[in-house]
Amino acid sequence: MSYRFRSLTAPGRFRRLTATKGFPRPLGQALAALAALILLGAGCERTTKSPSAATAPPPTPAPPFSADSALAHIRTQLAFGPRVPNSAAHSRCADWLVARFKAVGPHVVVVEQTAQVPGKRGKLPLRNIIVRVYPERAERVMLSAHYDARIVADQETDAAAQRQPVPAANDGASGVAVLLELARHLGPPSSATDPGIGVDIALWDLEDQGQTDLAENFCLGSAHWAANPHQRNYRARFGIVLDMVGARGATFPQEEYSLQYAANRVQQVWRTAHRLGYGAYFPFQKSSAIFDDHVPLNQTAGIPTLDIIHRDLTDEAFFAHWHKRSDDISQIDKGTLLAVGQTVLQVVYDEGAPFRRQSARPDSAGRAASDSVK
Ligand SMILES: [Zn+2]
Repeated sequence: MSYRFRSLTAPGRFRRLTATKGFPRPLGQALAALAALILLGAGCERTTKSPSAATAPPPTPAPPFSADSALAHIRTQLAFGPRVPNSAAHSRCADWLVARFKAVGPHVVVVEQTAQVPGKRGKLPLRNIIVRVYPERAERVMLSAHYDARIVADQETDAAAQRQPVPAANDGASGVAVLLELARHLGPPSSATDPGIGVDIALWDLEDQGQTDLAENFCLGSAHWAANPHQRNYRARFGIVLDMVGARGATFPQEEYSLQYAANRVQQVWRTAHRLGYGAYFPFQKSSAIFDDHVPLNQTAGIPTLDIIHRDLTDEAFFAHWHKRSDDISQIDKGTLLAVGQTVLQVVYDEGAPFRRQSARPDSAGRAASDSVK
């Protein structure tokens, strides 16, 4: 493998606790941190029980997620070319995403957030896309993924290839595609496919433009939003970040920050995956901390957020084509898209179940139908 260990010389608690994507810390430190987290996680488990866990009704099947649609959404993103910030491909893809999400229905409101944020080479233009489904609801979950493509394929060995952008079929387009397909199922309020809860889908910009050994240069879009949310006092019950969720044979061990900040939600998602038959993708195995979009969401916005991110179960590497020109459509597998998409959709429906019941009064035939989601 070509992975290098991240430098740990920089002072500061933040730096010592974080590892940039793909640069696990030396084993000794990782084990020490893991031991601390096991203790911390055990404490969290005892003291912060999921509000839905005690009252959860029997699960209602979520609508069937279409991996064919998700795959088509990846192909469309790739057809724009690499969605490198400040490029025509990026701009056209963002326009297309806004239009597609708006087309889901009148119960969907799209909020765009633009800014100039500091980057390695001066200011970078930023365009976050926030899709608000059932915007009037107070109880919400936040699902997100980054849609930008990395400007350099710096995991290539060939010098010329290193200067090329990444197609980003898996590391970018896959998470967005899953969320786009998922949104299609969130039918209008009181319909049979209304999950009963508000959903925000955030498509982050500037996640993947950093220098590989500097965590702070990554996740600029989510960090900007976390410090400047689209709505004052924005709250969500929890959040899920999807990153590299489409590769063949993917595995999603339980990432350390996710366990630190959202241990109950991690178990909820992983148990749901097992219940649906996708346990092979979601092993109950821990993996070391990764600096991804869930870090600003947890640390700055205070939303308990977990990261579903592809890691190898043996050496914790990302998928073999990470930050390479070969991260293209040939790496994508519909089985993985289905496992992730159906699991997350089911988690949303399970979370909304108590609210669906509240609105399903016997005196309202239309609303009562919302309990019989197929
Ligand atoms: Zn990346």
